[in-house]
Order: sequence, then C-alpha cells, then structure tokens
Amino acid sequence: METEKRYKETSEIPVAAVIGGGAAAMMAAVALKETCPRARVLLFEKNHHLGAKVIISGGGRCNVTTGREDPKDLVSFYPRGGKYLLSAFYHFPPRSVMDWFEDHGVPLKIEEDLRVFPRSNDGDDVVGALSKTLSSLGAEVLLRSAVQSVERVGEKFLITYGQTSSSELSVDGVVVATGGNAYRRTGSTGDGYAFAKALGHSVTPLAASLHAFVAAQPWVKELAGVSWQQAGITLNSSDGARNYHFQGPFVFTHQGISGPAIFALSSLSAYEEFSPQRPLTLYIDFFPELRKEELAQRWRELTDQHRKKQCLNVVDMFLPRSLSGILLRELAIPPDRSIAELSKAHQEKILQSLKGFSLSLVGKMAGEEFVTAGGVPLEEVDPRTMASKICPGLSFAGEVLDIDGFTGGYNLQAAWATGRLAGESLGNMLTQSD
Ligand SMILES: Cc1cc2nc3c(=O)[nH]c(=O)nc-3n(C[C@H](O)[C@H](O)[C@H](O)COP(=O)(O)OP(=O)(O)OC[C@H]3O[C@@H](n4cnc5c(N)ncnc54)[C@H](O)[C@@H]3O)c2cc1C
Repeated sequence: METEKRYKETSEIPVAAVIGGGAAAMMAAVALKETCPRARVLLFEKNHHLGAKVIISGGGRCNVTTGREDPKDLVSFYPRGGKYLLSAFYHFPPRSVMDWFEDHGVPLKIEEDLRVFPRSNDGDDVVGALSKTLSSLGAEVLLRSAVQSVERVGEKFLITYGQTSSSELSVDGVVVATGGNAYRRTGSTGDGYAFAKALGHSVTPLAASLHAFVAAQPWVKELAGVSWQQAGITLNSSDGARNYHFQGPFVFTHQGISGPAIFALSSLSAYEEFSPQRPLTLYIDFFPELRKEELAQRWRELTDQHRKKQCLNVVDMFLPRSLSGILLRELAIPPDRSIAELSKAHQEKILQSLKGFSLSLVGKMAGEEFVTAGGVPLEEVDPRTMASKICPGLSFAGEVLDIDGFTGGYNLQAAWATGRLAGESLGNMLTQSD
C-alpha cells in the first residue's frame, strides 16, 4: 500500500476530520470552524461533489426542513430518536435552519403542507451555500476522498483515506457523518457503521424506511399513477398481532403502492418481517371522514336515484373509473349489472371495500428507500453534544445515528441540527484543549 503523508501534524494547531459531505457533515464542518477558527478542519467526501443526497432530496427541490417549529411537536414525527433530538432541536430548530439558509443567500418558502423549500426549487442552491461558507471559513474539502478506516492511536485518531492510493492523517477529533445505508448510489453505503464499531461502538439492526411496497396483486399495474388524497390506511403485520395506521395520500405504482401515507407506514413498520409467503395486509379506507353508516346512507341515496344504471357507473361516483372496475372484478360482481338487480350482499361487499380495500404486500422497493432505520445506538452518544460516551474526541451526526423521521423535511432537519451540535461541541473541546 502506497502511503503518502500529505498532511503533517502540527502540535499547535488542533486538527479535526469530518467524515462525509452530506447535510450533517457540511453543517458540522461549518460549525466547527466557526467555533474554533484556529482549528484545521478537513471534510472527507468520497464523491466528486458535496451533498449528493441533498441535491436529489424532495424530488430535486430539496425539502430543507419543516415549518413545524415547536421542538416538542417536531419530535413526534420521528418513529425512532424523536425525544433524543430535543436538545439538538432546541439548539438549532427549523426557524434557525431557515434563518441560516436565508442569511447565506438561499431564500426559502413554506408550502401549505409545511414543507420548506428554496424559492428557486433547486437543491443545488442549498449545497452551494454550504460549500461557499466552508470555503470562506477556510475548511478544507477533500473530494474523491473515501475514508477507509479510523483508528484510535493514543489520544489521537489516524484517518486512512483515498480512492486509488491511501493517505494517512492524524487528527484530534472526528465527526462521523457518513449517513445511512439507503439510496447507496449517492455514496451512503454504511461505512460509518464500521468506523463506529472499530472505535468501540455498537450498531442496532438496520432496516429500510420510507419506501414503497411491492404488492402481490398483478392488477396494481393497471392502476399505476392512480392516486387518492385522503385515505385511512391500516397495515397489519403478517401474524396479525400488530397494526399500524396512517391517514394521507397514496398512489398505485406499476409494482404496488407508494405516496406519503405509505412512506409513513413503511417507517412505522420498518422492522416487520414479511415475504410473499407471509405478506403484510393493507386496508385502504377511501372515506375515513365518514362512518360506515354514513357511507351506506350516501350509497342508498344514489342507488335509489339511479336504479337503472349499471353498478360500475354508480361505483364510479365514489372512485376513479379504473379503480371501480378493479374493485368490482375483485368482488366478482359483473360491472354491467344494474343497481336494481344487485343483491343486498353484493351492495354490502361494495361498501365494505370502499371502507377497507385490501392489498397483500410482499416486498419493499429495494434500493429506493429514502432512509435507514437503526444505526449508532443513542444511549452511546450524548444528546447535548453528539459526543461519543465511549471514545473521547469522537462525535456522530445525521442518519448514521439510530434516528429517522417521516417525509416532510424531518430527516434533513435532524441532519442539520445534530451536525450543528456535533461541530460546535467538538469546536469547543478543541478550543479548550488549545
Ligand atoms: C431520494 C431521497 C429523497 C429525500 N428527500 C428528503 C427531503 O426532501 N427532506 C428530508 O428531510 N429528507 C429527505 N431525504 C432523506 C435525507 O436526504 C437524509 O436523511 C439526509 O440527507 C441524511 O444526511 P446525512 O448527512 O446524515 O447523510 P448523507 O446525506 O447520506 O451523507 C453522507 C455522505 O457521506 C459520504 N460518505 C459515506 N461514506 C464515506 C466515506 N467512507 N468516506 C467519505 N465520504 C463518505 C457519502 O458519499 C455522502 O455524501 C431523502 C432521501 C432520499 C434518498
């Protein structure tokens, strides 16, 4: 192995390494340099540019944070790690995140559903602001520089990095902000879990979260693109022992089902085991705001008025045409049968399906998940500083931790807030040890 000592240690200047060039790492490096300007701060990113995931987030528009500002309210949007985040959120709440970006030349807008985006709808602006700030503060950004290992050597850390050859650097403090294991093509390939383990930490079981599901029913592809705004969706575990509920929009896909409510359910049920042999069952209530009797009343009113109509045309008054056809097909009810000819039992089945249309879920859309559930256990990291309780000088920030939230800007908010806290705390530590 060719080893070149590109960076020499200097006893007077503290040196810190931030591993990763995502949201948490960029914010941590900025905070580190602001808190301890004397320190030499090196940010290692394996890609040839910063913030790959920030750029593609929110469909390329970058849902930077949420307009939900009260930390106590905010933490309920994290199935794992919510309460733990309170200190970080009081320290750097969504309002401060918004102020930070606006002060650094990225005007923002809060949309109706409280998602916050750059007014330009361009994630590149978010990364550009951070990149410019890093450079103006004098942080050194090393691109195409994958960290291979982090070793504890006395009171320091030895970082081995490089793409084709290996270089080494001895540093006083390290922030591991390598992200999770989701959407691996962006560079987040779970390397931080190995670094954490090498430095004495453990890692909780990992699972994909915020993903679409694959359904067993082949007819879903006929519905690809059909969406519904307000559904009450219940997901039952494969053994029927647990169920999860969420209300919101969903969309059928070529292979199954997706959309905000489905993402939330995938997050709540991230650790449920299932397979084609032991599927999860999903029940869609298309009219969650109506009790079954109220829907039945509405059905009676319409069928009384349209007794000669074919039942497909009446179900169409409740659902989009493609969905009505499939609903009747699944119930084995001829669509051209007139309402007058429809038995009470068939009418009851239609009503039941409108309040609980079922789908068998047999898989996750692998590789397409937005975040990883699980990571460095929270009890091993101080929530007030993000510093390791096991290895002095080491901190963690972002998705590498056992923290994940719903869609809506919550994951980036967690990355900014933990990154900020980790950077400031390590900066303070380096200042004190000067
Ligand atoms: C398609 C998609 C859309 C999303 N949309 C949103 C959204 O709109 N709003 C929201 O809040 N969240 C969204 N998320 C989730 C959010 O982007 C992540 O939770 C967040 O970016 C995590 O930040 P991070 O800094 O912890 O990790 P990451 O963003 O994953 O960054 C980690 C970085 O570390 C680098 N790295 C890894 N290992 C090494 C190594 N060994 N050496 C050097 N560098 C390394 C990686 O290349 C990567 O750049 C989305 C996720 C995806 C996949």
